[in-house]
Amino acid sequence: MEFLQYIIFPAEIRSFSKLDGYGSINYKVSLANGTDYLVKVYKASEQKQIQEEERIIALIQASSGIQLTAPAPVKFLSAIPADIYIRVSEFIGGVSLNKELATDTLLADIAGATATMLTRLQKIDSDIVKAREHDWNVRDALRNKSKIDFIEEASDKKIVIYYLSLFEHEIIPAFQNLRHSVIHGDLNEANILVKENKVQGFIDFGDISHAPVICELAILLTYIMMMFPDECFEKAKIIIAHFHKTFPLTEKELEILPQLIATRLSVSVCKSAEAKAAAVDTDYILISEKPAWHLLHKWIAVNPIYIVNVFKNAAGFSAQIPDTLNLLKERKKVASPGLSLSYRKPIHMTAALFQYMYAADGNTYLDAYNNIPHVGHCHPAIAEAASKQIRKLNTNTRYLFESYVSYSGQLLSLFPASLDKVFLLNSGSEASDLATRIAKTVTGKKGVAVLEWSYHGHTQNGINISSHKFDKQGGSGPAEWILRLPLPKAFNGRHPTAKAYFEEAKKLIEDFENKGISLAAFIAEPISGCGGQVPLIDGYLKLLAPYLQAKGILIIIDEVQTGFGRLGNWFWGFEMHGIVPDLVVLGKPIGNGHPMGAVVTSAAVTNAFNNGMEFFSSFGGNPVSCETGKAVIATIKNEGLQQNALEVGAYWLEQLRFLQKEFPVLGDVRGEGLFIGVECINEQGKENTALAQEITNALKEKFILTSTDGPLNNVLKMKPPLCFTKENVDRYIETLYTILKANQQFWFTSKKGG
Ligand code: PMP
Repeated sequence: MEFLQYIIFPAEIRSFSKLDGYGSINYKVSLANGTDYLVKVYKASEQKQIQEEERIIALIQASSGIQLTAPAPVKFLSAIPADIYIRVSEFIGGVSLNKELATDTLLADIAGATATMLTRLQKIDSDIVKAREHDWNVRDALRNKSKIDFIEEASDKKIVIYYLSLFEHEIIPAFQNLRHSVIHGDLNEANILVKENKVQGFIDFGDISHAPVICELAILLTYIMMMFPDECFEKAKIIIAHFHKTFPLTEKELEILPQLIATRLSVSVCKSAEAKAAAVDTDYILISEKPAWHLLHKWIAVNPIYIVNVFKNAAGFSAQIPDTLNLLKERKKVASPGLSLSYRKPIHMTAALFQYMYAADGNTYLDAYNNIPHVGHCHPAIAEAASKQIRKLNTNTRYLFESYVSYSGQLLSLFPASLDKVFLLNSGSEASDLATRIAKTVTGKKGVAVLEWSYHGHTQNGINISSHKFDKQGGSGPAEWILRLPLPKAFNGRHPTAKAYFEEAKKLIEDFENKGISLAAFIAEPISGCGGQVPLIDGYLKLLAPYLQAKGILIIIDEVQTGFGRLGNWFWGFEMHGIVPDLVVLGKPIGNGHPMGAVVTSAAVTNAFNNGMEFFSSFGGNPVSCETGKAVIATIKNEGLQQNALEVGAYWLEQLRFLQKEFPVLGDVRGEGLFIGVECINEQGKENTALAQEITNALKEKFILTSTDGPLNNVLKMKPPLCFTKENVDRYIETLYTILKANQQFWFTSKKGG
């Protein structure tokens, strides 16, 4: 009764109840004469704002005929406390919208009524509303940035950071050219009253805002799509089509609609996280929390081009048609024919996010293949770090700057103590090149031992140490200073044990050196990527390392593919083999796509390398790269990505081994963490290239990116961004299952089997 005593109602109060609300204290009051009232109690400081709301409500009510919570003609006692302002409205009939009531007809009616109300709102000029900033106004979404830290899950947080930064960098500038108006600003289901499959009225103008008109539709759509997550685009089409009939939208407005929906969802989860952290009366504000997260997670997995096209089509505009064929033609004009494209029909990419890639035709690909975007495509933490620094200072290592030191320190802290020096470079090729140069300079010898089917880079030296290049088409075999050792492979290998591989390597090294060229280095990947995702047979490096060290041959381990936590159990692949190399080559994931590379080694090696010749790389170790590298390390840690690689990778391997039982053509399932290979074989146990190729192309047709590798390209290769989830694995496995079932003709490829 606390506040009701100040109001003189036209009849006796029969009952009253407190209602959920946000920003004001609300009561429903039922009188003995049968009328119901809504009483809202505000702080007196809000009086000007509330009276403006009342003025606006009265204007639209009169001209649109839509029922709104207009002030009711009741009287007040003159002695109302000075610190409150009370508004009483007649209760509008009907009930709040909910999923059961939301028929397509009703959705169409809601869209039409929203458009009608907006048409009226557009005519209203209000300096008070214009000037008012608040967290829920989509225009002011960035006010919520400070609340991001209340979000507990790092994998959730990154989505909100991404969408709010997109809002900041793309939407705010776009706003300048759009129509603005007063809008209701909060057409969530609780504020839409319905009766008999029609809109009864709109309530709660507490979030009335001045914003681009499209925000009104974005907010309505957000709540309807949350209500129907599995049919969200079908429902959106109905809303847009009917809204557009009364309130014609422009293409520009429709183009930013998907991002505005993502912005509204982001604001909503920020507000929920803040409310939770403050442990305030959260029930009302937390209603949307779960559906908002659900829709946000769905949103990242859908190409924005697709959404824009759906929205534009609903309004009768035609979809964008990409000129992919022309792009291909133009590329051929400027590029060498040796520059390849994946797949029989190449994919024209326009954008990517985390483990999803978006193509120009609107399709979304699940990326099970690209390991360069290690922490996820276009991760906002990386984009932010790099773009902030590139606006500030980008110079070279001949000047002192802090990030060179802090980044080098952070990187080295990830290695055993004996590896305490780093050379910062621009690519894996540059790193393998420098590592071999260091080994040659330090030892004064010139031979290099490599593994069969190795790949370490595309520079002249890179090709020389890459059997995958010099032994394949266009290559001219090993240079005279190269010793090629057999790839120590457990499955279908030439030896059954590590010991046998070691004995053979020892013999080959001795024979090679006896011919007059001493070895400066041995280089290998812990799991051979181009060899076909082949983990070097367990024990091989452990046996080989002391032998090489005794002979003064430096061990270079190439972690370009395997490093930075991808293997799950180990941060570096050499740890899996229980050795500490003399030099480590880093690339790809180190910069999440920003071109970086590094060589990590010991003080003893760098001292011996320092023969008076300056070491300098124009771009290596520049401040932008250092900040990017720091952001990569921080993100791996913050998001627990090594652990995710371990868990998701183990699950994937388990599922593949399960599949292998039904499909023996999956001859060997191998790998660690999120670095996985599946060797396809035929009925004779031999390489089945045709099947592997068929699977890769069929997966692509089902919008999953993978590739093949191995000398005969018969190994399916999976090495996704480390944010890959178990749900992503499920989709991969289900799709692979369907493909294997449908392609039994590829099981038998030997002559005997046809
Ligand atoms: N080493 C390995 C194991 C690689 O996979 C690659 C690239 N595929 C490189 C070195 C060369 O790295 P980059 O392409 O950055 O020069």
